[in-house]
Amino acid sequence: MKYIGAHVSAAGGIELAVERATEIGANAFALFTKNQRQWQAPDLTSKTINAFRHACEKAGFLPEQILPHDSYLINLGHPEAEALEKSRLAFIDEMQRCEQLGLCYLNFHPGSHLKAISEEESLRKVAESINIALDKTQGVTAVIENTAGQGTNLGWQFEHLAAIIAQVEDKSRVGVCYDTCHAFAAGYDMRTPETCAATFAEFERIVGFRYLKGMHINGAKCTFGSRVDRHHSLQEGNLGTAVFEFIMRDTRFDRIPLILETVNPDIWPDEIRWLRQLA
Ligand SMILES: [Zn+2]
Ligand SMILES: [Zn+2]
Repeated sequence: MKYIGAHVSAAGGIELAVERATEIGANAFALFTKNQRQWQAPDLTSKTINAFRHACEKAGFLPEQILPHDSYLINLGHPEAEALEKSRLAFIDEMQRCEQLGLCYLNFHPGSHLKAISEEESLRKVAESINIALDKTQGVTAVIENTAGQGTNLGWQFEHLAAIIAQVEDKSRVGVCYDTCHAFAAGYDMRTPETCAATFAEFERIVGFRYLKGMHINGAKCTFGSRVDRHHSLQEGNLGTAVFEFIMRDTRFDRIPLILETVNPDIWPDEIRWLRQLA
């Protein structure tokens, strides 16, 4: 069973995201539970929480079909103490929002070293940030996303993800979200069935499929190994479609949210249908 959907808008109320997911024929979705460009957000009211839970129940979405994403402002590997603390508090708040909504995942980008500390040191801070947040919440898994490696962003090499996981105390509540565009930009080839098999074998060896909790299914406007983060529609761009066939026909990608962050929301219903017929 494949859970396929998109990162839908939560404008006007997070419960509306559920409706938008249903409208595009999705049986999975991603959303922001607050404005992703602001640090502060009003607490979720019990009215909002109930409306969201009710909408999910009515539309048949289980928590495992939903992959909330945190704010882009958060940097859990920040080199400076004060800024790191600000990020950690915001991340705990995001985890608590997920907990209140009855969700089981929070997807986030690991962080950036900003050239002020070593990769290793920054990754250690990310893991410590996760430990703190897991300690303050229950039932929500911290889902680290692989990145394109743009600028000083960490998480573009599988080894970065493995290094973070190794330092997380509660391994039952840490996971990984694999973004196809980011991996391609980071230099992981998936343009043929053979390179897909090799790349995912490497993922299994270094990270492990047991940690795979979600995927971002994106084409790439960027070029291979460019370390530039530019998504494209599935059937356009430089990644090609072999990887999507590979994912849809492999049971290791069953029962996790497969989320489109492709550039043209108008064709999301078509992209979802197209993915389903590949299976
Ligand atoms: Zn992504
Ligand atoms: Zn991206």
